[in-house]
Amino acid sequence: MENNQSIMDIFGTNVFNDKAMRQYLPKSVYYELRKTIEGRKELDPAIADIVAAAIKKWAIEKGATHYTHWFQPLTGFTAEKHDSFITPPREDGSVMMEFSGKDLIRGESDASSFPSGGLRATFEARGYTAWDCTSPAFIREDAAGAILCIPTAFCSFTGEALDQKTPLLRSMEAVQEQALRVLKLFGNTTSKKVVSSTGAEQEYFLIDKEKYLLRKDLIYTGRTLFGAMPPKGQELDDHYFGTIRQRIANYMRQVNEELWKMGVPAKTQHNEVAPAQHELAPIYAESNVAADHNQIMMQTLKRIAGKQGMVCLLHEKPFAGVNGSGKHNNWSLTTDDGINLLNPGKNPHENKQFLLILACILKAVDTHADLLRESAANVGNDHRLGAHEAPPAIISVFLGEQLDEIIDQILRKGNATHSLKGVILHTGVRTLPEFRMDATDRNRTSPFAFNGNKFEFRMVGSRDSIAPSTVVINTIVAEAFADACDILEKAEDFDTALNELMVQYFAEHRKVIFGGNGYSEEWVEEAARRGLPNLRSMIDAIPASITEKAIQMYERFGVFSSSELHSRAEIKYETYNKAVNIEALTMIDMAVKQIIPAVIGYTGTLSSIIQTMKSVGVTAVVQTELLTDINKLLEETNGAVRILRELTAEAQGITDNKTRAHFNHDFVVPAMEALRRPVDKLEMLVDKEAWPMPSYGDLMFEV
Ligand code: ADP
Ligand code: MG
Repeated sequence: MENNQSIMDIFGTNVFNDKAMRQYLPKSVYYELRKTIEGRKELDPAIADIVAAAIKKWAIEKGATHYTHWFQPLTGFTAEKHDSFITPPREDGSVMMEFSGKDLIRGESDASSFPSGGLRATFEARGYTAWDCTSPAFIREDAAGAILCIPTAFCSFTGEALDQKTPLLRSMEAVQEQALRVLKLFGNTTSKKVVSSTGAEQEYFLIDKEKYLLRKDLIYTGRTLFGAMPPKGQELDDHYFGTIRQRIANYMRQVNEELWKMGVPAKTQHNEVAPAQHELAPIYAESNVAADHNQIMMQTLKRIAGKQGMVCLLHEKPFAGVNGSGKHNNWSLTTDDGINLLNPGKNPHENKQFLLILACILKAVDTHADLLRESAANVGNDHRLGAHEAPPAIISVFLGEQLDEIIDQILRKGNATHSLKGVILHTGVRTLPEFRMDATDRNRTSPFAFNGNKFEFRMVGSRDSIAPSTVVINTIVAEAFADACDILEKAEDFDTALNELMVQYFAEHRKVIFGGNGYSEEWVEEAARRGLPNLRSMIDAIPASITEKAIQMYERFGVFSSSELHSRAEIKYETYNKAVNIEALTMIDMAVKQIIPAVIGYTGTLSSIIQTMKSVGVTAVVQTELLTDINKLLEETNGAVRILRELTAEAQGITDNKTRAHFNHDFVVPAMEALRRPVDKLEMLVDKEAWPMPSYGDLMFEV
């Protein structure tokens, strides 16, 4: 950004947004397109060519040479294939720039190389990408030049979803339809749309690239597989919200500028709890757009880091012993005329619509806690969920004192007659303004927390798309709305029926509410007493998505078919197996080729020192003791490598993905931990000069 440029000048300059549409489209087509977008409809082929021509003109003026259908297959990454705009050369050797309506709306992609979980046979592996015109086209500038990116959904030949986007769009429709029924119950005839909105806070680590390149574990797996804790970790809490260092500040500035250009409203940035950890949050958007924004954000964080000699780690647990990274999914429902359905208003006890919605959400989360947990299951999150600093793997809801108290009134007296108010905060300083405290404090340990006018689901892994968790929230809430409406629409006496239903829902699902310390051991015991599921690992969680209960719900709302769900579960097992296999092989490689040789070298140095000392008649007590200790750990390391190697080979021989995943979880992962233990101890004993890779201290404190 030049000095005299403001954010307003650059924001959205690389997005084919409303402003660009007005400028480049004939008026009538502009209105058609707007209607299509606002009505979340399909683009009329009759205007597609005109829209495409306008986008092409706009993009070429911005320097774009290629376009791509940009989609989110089930690899967890985004995918793209670049096509340049050029046509075959004409007779005079010149080329034209071409981009038709067909190129815009639909693309064909060989789907056989993307995970499908057995949805299609490879010989018919045709896949289609289709423009989600509610998410605008944008231009990304990188080393490849300027690329026109068209956000698309990705489906199979037969219409089965092969991506994250399709089910997200389906779930948005489902929750909209049911939410409109709820609004109608309360006499609202003016709202035409209800959209789910998402704000995704993104945590990440930044480390120096030269050091990164010295660590095979980071290169191959995105996390450290070995590493002793440095003398200082995060115990002083001096990093969280601390002053941002110049190198990082410069990085954040460039990331923001790039994001703003692509229309991603990057808003809040700060240092996170762990050393070298940071966070970036955009302003929320409609969930499908927010999911795209988050992908753009992750790509940009990585790209700019590379340009500035750093590496951005998006892994959920790059370093053992310090905080991992997550992605908070802030979720709400808003109407086209500006009503946030999760806004309790000044007197929540009188706001029956809000209380019904709240009761439905509680019911949804309690009934499908396992699904919500599953939506955050990934290999990296296994090191984070349930660890001391992160949400535990148990789903509970935090509502805060005010709402807790209202529910209490409803359950005691059948209805609520008052709401707790926040008190005036007196600071005792005359020059500071007095302000009213929120009636509700925050709870940072709750995985599903209400905070004012939205729910915040905090379990999602930092690398994951926010789509799966949003799909779950939208669909389970749609189901609860539908169940409630089925009853209330038929009620003869609405008010009585409403009260009865709320009492019933609150009574049945109150058990999922928890306001205490979610990280404590007592909570784990208490949750077990309440019968709340505690799915500790990814592979414990996967089956949740294919229970009768889940399949029935997803089919009812047209979000997933049974075969789509089964294929996704299969892909998850497969992904787990691949990740564990790569980690195990990387550990073996590092141990055998780097660590063991380095330690042998050091023991050699020690023994020659000892020999020399002995030959001149000096005792070498310390040296001998050190040598003995190191040697013992070296033997242990060698033994652990042998076991890990055998178990990894055995796992590779198992063909069934689920069986193999359990074997990996029960045997290979513990064997990896068993190898790590002696190596981390060795790191503390061996001369730093002799250690073959940068330490945790080097990585986290010297960025
Ligand atoms: P917190 O302090 O609770 O983390 P912030 O105000 O910093 O809350 O917002 C966190 C994220 O939630 C941001 O991305 C923000 O845009 C998003 N957000 C705020 N309000 C809503 C809402 N009504 N619906 C969805 N997301 C929201
Ligand atoms: Mg937050």
